[in-house]
Amino acid sequence: MGKEQTLLIVKPDAVRKNLIGEVLARLEKGGLKVVASKMVHLKEKEAEEFYAIHRERPFYRDLVNFMISGPVVISILEGEGAIAKNREIMGATNPKEAAPGTIRADFADSIDENAVHGSDGPDTARTEIAFFFTPQEICPRLKARDY
Ligand code: ATP
Ligand code: MG
Repeated sequence: MGKEQTLLIVKPDAVRKNLIGEVLARLEKGGLKVVASKMVHLKEKEAEEFYAIHRERPFYRDLVNFMISGPVVISILEGEGAIAKNREIMGATNPKEAAPGTIRADFADSIDENAVHGSDGPDTARTEIAFFFTPQEICPRLKARDY
């Protein structure tokens, strides 16, 4: 699998509930490293474009409105198999189906407000990282000493 980077968003519900640190702590304890991070309040156009793949889905407008309802924390996580590892620690999209001990099982209220977003594959990870970060904003630890 090798070292990968993936995009994580702590969504507005989790930010409102003071869970930024808890979410990042779980991912760090899972072996992932934060190599970029910022808090932003997304504009409607940005949220629409980010979730454009879901444009035809019935929940699209609600999803966009939720994602702009408050600030989010967007991070890049790096590590062995980071994409799958992140999604494993996040748990299933619907918190009712998420495995015990996952972020969504413990902190998400519903499928609409489900605490976190994580890239679902190498192509989306690349696209999503480039959507939110310039190369100058990323501090990769791939070649750095393990600090
Ligand atoms: P994310 O992309 O946020 O990491 P995911 O990959 O687990 O989540 P997707 O299928 O990509 O799930 O859906 C994107 C987001 O749209 C979900 O996180 C959720 O907030 C919302 N969503 C997905 N399916 C539904 C649904 N049936 N009803 C309401 N909202 C939904
Ligand atoms: Mg998705």
